[in-house]
Amino acid sequence: MEVNIWIIRKKQNVLFLLFIDMQPFINIHTHSLSSNPEVISIFNVDYESLSQRESSNHPISILSHQHITPSAHQHINQSAGIHPWYIDNIDISEHLNILEKLVRERQICAVGEIGLDKACKSDFKQQEAVFKAQLGIASKNNLPVIIHCVKAYNEVSEILTELKHTTPVIFHGFNSSLQMAQQLINKGYYLSFGPEICNPRSKRREIIKQIPLNQLFLETDDREINICQLYEEASILLKMQEVELREVIEMNFKCMFGGICE
Ligand SMILES: [Zn+2]
Repeated sequence: MEVNIWIIRKKQNVLFLLFIDMQPFINIHTHSLSSNPEVISIFNVDYESLSQRESSNHPISILSHQHITPSAHQHINQSAGIHPWYIDNIDISEHLNILEKLVRERQICAVGEIGLDKACKSDFKQQEAVFKAQLGIASKNNLPVIIHCVKAYNEVSEILTELKHTTPVIFHGFNSSLQMAQQLINKGYYLSFGPEICNPRSKRREIIKQIPLNQLFLETDDREINICQLYEEASILLKMQEVELREVIEMNFKCMFGGICE
């Protein structure tokens, strides 16, 4: 009898270890790279450096970006887009052409971060125009979009509806009310939460608990924090095993990107 129990436990242990080994940590939006082979990131390409390379006649090759190490290549997927912060001082049509070229060459798996930001100085009408143009590129090429949104959730949501946008949408670094979170969830969008969930005073610790697991992502954005720490914190908040959280977010990732990303 004891032997049988031991065997069952041993089998369970083995299964459990295999299970853990198979679930990556998905970092849905980051500006830095992880050398942890268990991490799969959507690395946001610095658009300014891209346009400089283009104008200096160097062929665009994001994979030779200085921060990317060969050992990490297999876990890197990239996003690029014209950020609303930078639109006032650039040639928009040239940058849209660069974006289209990246999409054509399959160098990116998502368009972003793109969106609207009422806290920056960029002309808002221009922000809307550039945002719409990039949503058009994403739609035409069936790519997901990663949204940067500051104090403009209603406007972003209205534009997505107006354009009848159908590719997957992720609001990265979600920072609005529970009511807004529910509106966006009802429209089928994904919400991604960042390091703020580790701040005991952040209302996002409560909001994340109300998000359906099949519309949830985690991200480090531009912060110096390990994505694994965010999984740990989120699994405590959501009262679930970290391995389960890894599994559901990986499912979301697969649903969203299908065969586009590794
Ligand atoms: Zn970012």
